[in-house]
Amino acid sequence: MTGQAENSGCGPSRRPRVRDNIQKGAMEFVEQLKSSVQIESVIGEYVRLRKSGANRFTGLCPFHNEKTGSFTVHAAKQFYYCFGCHATGNVVNFVMEMEHVSFFEALKSLSERYGIPMPKRSQYSDEDSKLRAAIHQMHELAQETFRANLNGQPGDAARSYIGRRGLSPETVEQFGLGYSEPSGRALVRLFEQRGFTSGQMEQSGLVGKGEDGSLYGRFRNRLMFPIQNESGKIIAYGGRALSADDKAKYLNSPETPIYKKSQVLYNLHRAKEAIRKEERVILVEGYMDAIGVSSAGFGAVVASCGTALTPQQVQALKRHAPKIAVNFDPDAAGANATERSINLLLQEGMQVRIVELDGGLDPDEYCQQRGAEAYRKRLDMAKGYFFWLADRLRAKHDMHTTEGKVAVLQALLPAVHRISDALERGVIANELAGYIGVDKGMVLDSFRKRAAERHEKALDRPTAAMRPDERMLLSAMFGEAADQMEIIRELRSLESIANFTARRILETVFALNEAGGRVSFEAVNARLEEADQRLLAEAVLREDMEYSAEEVLAALKRVRLSEHQQKTEQLKMRIRELERQGRIGEAMQLMAEQPRPSLIADDASAANRAARRGVQ
Ligand SMILES: [Zn+2]
Repeated sequence: MTGQAENSGCGPSRRPRVRDNIQKGAMEFVEQLKSSVQIESVIGEYVRLRKSGANRFTGLCPFHNEKTGSFTVHAAKQFYYCFGCHATGNVVNFVMEMEHVSFFEALKSLSERYGIPMPKRSQYSDEDSKLRAAIHQMHELAQETFRANLNGQPGDAARSYIGRRGLSPETVEQFGLGYSEPSGRALVRLFEQRGFTSGQMEQSGLVGKGEDGSLYGRFRNRLMFPIQNESGKIIAYGGRALSADDKAKYLNSPETPIYKKSQVLYNLHRAKEAIRKEERVILVEGYMDAIGVSSAGFGAVVASCGTALTPQQVQALKRHAPKIAVNFDPDAAGANATERSINLLLQEGMQVRIVELDGGLDPDEYCQQRGAEAYRKRLDMAKGYFFWLADRLRAKHDMHTTEGKVAVLQALLPAVHRISDALERGVIANELAGYIGVDKGMVLDSFRKRAAERHEKALDRPTAAMRPDERMLLSAMFGEAADQMEIIRELRSLESIANFTARRILETVFALNEAGGRVSFEAVNARLEEADQRLLAEAVLREDMEYSAEEVLAALKRVRLSEHQQKTEQLKMRIRELERQGRIGEAMQLMAEQPRPSLIADDASAANRAARRGVQ
C-alpha cells in the first residue's frame, strides 16, 4: 500500500538522479519537519488513535479494511506500521498516501498546516505537481472571486435565494458560499492575467472551451458551494442554478488532477471533530442538507453530493466513527439510494441506522420548519437498518400468510449476510425472525448453508519471520538502555549473520557504524528496502520495551550458542561422513577441534533465564 512511485527522500536510491539535488534540499526540511511535527497528531487527524504503549498508538488501518486496529504509530521513532497490510512509512509518506499527493505536495501541505516555512528551491519537482499546484491556486482565486460576487451587486439574486433558504450570514461565511456571474468571462480574464495557460485552465475543471476555441467559466449564474478535501483545501465546486432556465439544477466540477469524486465527502473536514466526539456521522444527500443540518447544531454531518457512495468514502467515515445515521431524501429515489449505500456500509462493518423524517421533508427543510429539537428526536428514533428494511418489505407483502413472511425473510437475508461480524450477524438474524414472526430455526438453517460457502479472505503474512532474539536485539539496538556499540561489536563477530532474517538490516547498521558513531533508527530505516522496513518496524513495535544490558547480552549469547550448535552439528556430520569413507585419521583430527560443551554451559543457562522473562 505504501508503494507510491515517488518516495519521501528517506528511501534508497530508487528515484531518478535529476531529482537528487532538489531532494537533498528537501531532506533537511524533512528532518526539520519531522522534528517539529508529532506524527501521532498528524495521523490522528485521519485515524482515531488510542494510546497503546509508552510511545505507541493504535487505530483502524486507513489502508485496508479491518475491524480491529492493527495500525500502529510509534511516536518516538516517528513511523507507522500496519500489522495487517504492512503499510509503513513516516509522516510524509502518510500524507502522500492519504491525500494521494506527491512527496513535495505532502511537504507543502504539512508545512502549511504546521506553520513551518518551506525552502523555496524545493517547491515542485515535476510537471504533475506543477499542474496540481496551478489548479489549487486557480481554486483559491475562484473562491475570492465567487465570494466577492456574492457580496457585491452581481450577487443580488443569489443573496435573495440564500435569504429564502433561511441561511444566516454566519452560515454563508462558514461554508464559503459564493456566486458565479452569468457571463463566465471574468474568471477566465483573471486566470489569464495571473499567467495561467489555457491548458491549465481547461484541466482545472473551472473553465470550459467553446466550439470556437474560446474559454469560458464553467459555472455561470450559480450559487457556489466550495468542496474541500479532508485537510480543508478547496478542490472542486458544486453550483446550484438560480435561473429556472438552467437545465441542470446542480452542476459539479468534473474530475481533475486534484479532485477524485469517489474519494471526497462534502463537509468532512469541518465535521470530523464532531464525528469523533459523537462517534457517529450523519450522512445526507446534498450540500444544502449538510449545511442545514450543521447549522441546526448537528455538526457531525457529511453529504455524498448526488453520487453513489463509494468504498473509499465509507472507509474515510469509518476512520472517524463506527456508527452512521443515513438521512436521505424521503422520496423513492432517496429510499433506493439508501438501500444501495447501506450494502456498502454493512460490508465495511459500520453500524447503520436510518433516519426517517415525516411530512415528506428533506433534512434541510425539516430543520428549518420543525426545528433542531424535532430533528434530534428523529435522530434518536432512527431505526436499525434491518428494521427499516423489514418495514419496507412488510408493506409489500401480506404478512398474515406464511408465504408473505417467508418472502420478506428471503429478501432480508442477503443484507444480513453482508454483516461482516459473525456474532452481530447472528444477533440481528434472531431479532429479525422475531420481528417478522417467522421460526428462528428457519433463519439459522439459511445461515448454516451460507456459512459453508463463506470464506473470509485472510491477509497474507510476511513470509520471513524473525527469531525473537533477532527482534529483541534490533529493538535494543535503537533503545536507550543498552549499549549500541557493544551490540554492534558482538553482532559483527558472529558468523551466522548471513542466516539472519534481519541480515540486510544489520548490514546497513554495520555500514553506517563504520562511517562513524551511533546509528539512529531513522538513518537505518531510510536506507532499507520496503520489505526490510516492515521487518524493522515490526521488530521495534513488538518489542516495545527497554531491555537491560544484561538481557541483551543474554540474547547475544543465545544467538552465539545456536551458532555454536549449528557448527557442532555440521562438524558431527562431517566426521560421520569421513568415518563412512574410512578416513579415520581425518575424522579424529576434526573431533579434536570440536569445542567442549562445558565451555558454553553458563551461557546457555543465562540465556534460558532471559528467555523465561518473556522475549517471545
Ligand atoms: Zn493496514
